[in-house]
Amino acid sequence: MLNEILERYWGYKSFREGQEEIISSITAGCDTLALMPTGGGKSICFQVPAMAREGTCLVVSPLIALMKDQVQRLNSLGIGAVAVYSGMSYRQIDAALDNVIYGDYKFLYVSPERLRSQLFMARVAKMNINYLVVDEAHCISQWGYDFRPSYLQICEIKKIIGDVTTVALTATATKEVAEDIVHKLAFKNPKIISTGFERKNLSYVVRKTENKFGNLLRICNNINGSGIVYMRERKKCEEIAKFLNANGIRADFYHAGLSGRERSEKQNLWQKNDIRVIVATNAFGMGIDKADVRFVLHFDLPESLEAYFQEAGRAGRDGKRAYATLLWNENDIRRLRLIHSVNFPETDFIRDIYQKVFLYLKIPYEEGGNSIHLFDVYNFARSFSLNVAKTYYAIKHIEEQGYWEFTDELDNPSRLLFTVNRDELYDLQLKNVTLDTFIKAVMRIYTGLFSKLTPIDEEYIAKLTLDSADGVKSKLKELADVYHVVKYIPQKRGTFIILKNERLVEPNLRIDEEGYLFRKKLFAERIESIISYVKNSSECRSRQLIHYFSQQAEHDCGICDVCIDKRNRDNYPAELERAAGNIAAFITERQGRGETTTLEDVATFAADNRKLYIDALRALIDTGKILICNESLKLRV
Ligand code: ADP
Ligand code: MG
Repeated sequence: MLNEILERYWGYKSFREGQEEIISSITAGCDTLALMPTGGGKSICFQVPAMAREGTCLVVSPLIALMKDQVQRLNSLGIGAVAVYSGMSYRQIDAALDNVIYGDYKFLYVSPERLRSQLFMARVAKMNINYLVVDEAHCISQWGYDFRPSYLQICEIKKIIGDVTTVALTATATKEVAEDIVHKLAFKNPKIISTGFERKNLSYVVRKTENKFGNLLRICNNINGSGIVYMRERKKCEEIAKFLNANGIRADFYHAGLSGRERSEKQNLWQKNDIRVIVATNAFGMGIDKADVRFVLHFDLPESLEAYFQEAGRAGRDGKRAYATLLWNENDIRRLRLIHSVNFPETDFIRDIYQKVFLYLKIPYEEGGNSIHLFDVYNFARSFSLNVAKTYYAIKHIEEQGYWEFTDELDNPSRLLFTVNRDELYDLQLKNVTLDTFIKAVMRIYTGLFSKLTPIDEEYIAKLTLDSADGVKSKLKELADVYHVVKYIPQKRGTFIILKNERLVEPNLRIDEEGYLFRKKLFAERIESIISYVKNSSECRSRQLIHYFSQQAEHDCGICDVCIDKRNRDNYPAELERAAGNIAAFITERQGRGETTTLEDVATFAADNRKLYIDALRALIDTGKILICNESLKLRV
């Protein structure tokens, strides 16, 4: 039955390792926490059981792009799915939720902040929810690397939807985080299933180097196939992509500063292998589904082993050999520790940013509650001469306190306002029958059009007036530009700040300092854990990572830099003997041509194996097989 669903909708013949165990736990009604590496196929684990049961599956997911992506994928498979997230207008949310109640929708995706809205709670009570799913469940834990306070409220929704089987999914959770998830979601007879953190085909390589560009080129040239280069700064992504192209490697850059369209264009080109290497910030990767990535290279140190494991894990999903290389030097470590102070500014700075945001938006005290504003952090920071990164994090920390929400890039709905009074409008309606019908319809759908700029949805109007969205838009433009009776602001893209409370006077602004300092400390610890990872070159990399996630590794991976170095060392005596033979032959050959041989000649001959050859030479001299006279080497026969 479940296999049938998998094949009918997804076209897959069989489940992957671990999927069946997770699915049977879910269908048996156990609250289940599934730990599976990125790309392991977590979505199927709840989607298949949900398809097998009556009702709608409620999925909480932290990132809008991720939700949209999954909804799109399900729809393309012929499965009804919708998403509700902040930034959508009341009417859009209303319509989406109505669809779920009356239509044949199997999946409702929701961002955690929306869960507690009156509208959502009222509607969800009328739904028949079959499972509650929490994706990226590590976000619920203060111990996790990506804590989202709004995740703490998820459990509350059970009071409304009833005690349905709960499923939590994540790729990265230490033991502490896993226990915290189970606790915060109030699991009954909890089951934690982990498919393990071992990636048999992935070779982890950590390299300390002052020559990152050289290493980058070598890797791009030596490894065929598609790759991702991760870096911290947006500007550097562009520079490195240029550098690679100048060296004959088809590369492009990607970061959150590009428009949504540019990003999906670049992603598509890379997906189709028209671009071989994508140089990106950590904004790249979510929702990408490319199996044949042969290498992931970290040009900068990531902020945590969790993030590193997720990003590196994008290589080799097809099971074939792939490489995850991390380049570092002492400078990176200094910078990483500096980032700590940028990501967690002093609370006074945060308080100051709170007031400045309202100043910037020209909102006086005790006003501005429940309003949405286009908000560009760069402009904001520039206008007050603030450090952009530090400002961004301050805004995010205030978001955690619940005062506002700062969104991903979103569509801001179009807005409409009638700028003339009803009598003047009536004159126009008498003269133009088409516009008369149109105006009447719009006024029936929306209220308040004469008093404020009202969010509207052209597609919705089109549906009710049996018109096309373009038809509606051109009529609105006509009303604005030809007849001057409305103000019409078409949809805009951008990042928004959604103010939940009116502006508070300084003493009333509450910031949970204890929680903040706690997370600041954890952040520092995570930074230290990646530092000790790169510095520990005596323990198998894969083993180190698996231990970090509180699991036992049964054996060394055999393919990471540590394992390979060790193997070379174990073979050293044999290698040394071979090198000694080569040196002797080299000197003999030169002697045959009447040439002398210097130390320098041997070093050049040794090429990459300099250390080995010097050691071999030293042994030859120590044992008297080679003599040095007048700086030239002589073989003693
Ligand atoms: P995760 O959430 O664990 O990172 P996804 O659920 O996004 O991973 O799945 C990654 C990819 O693996 C998707 O393209 C998905 O369709 C594919 N996949 C999942 N299960 C199977 C399966 N049983 N057979 C083949 N492909 C699968
Ligand atoms: Mg996923």
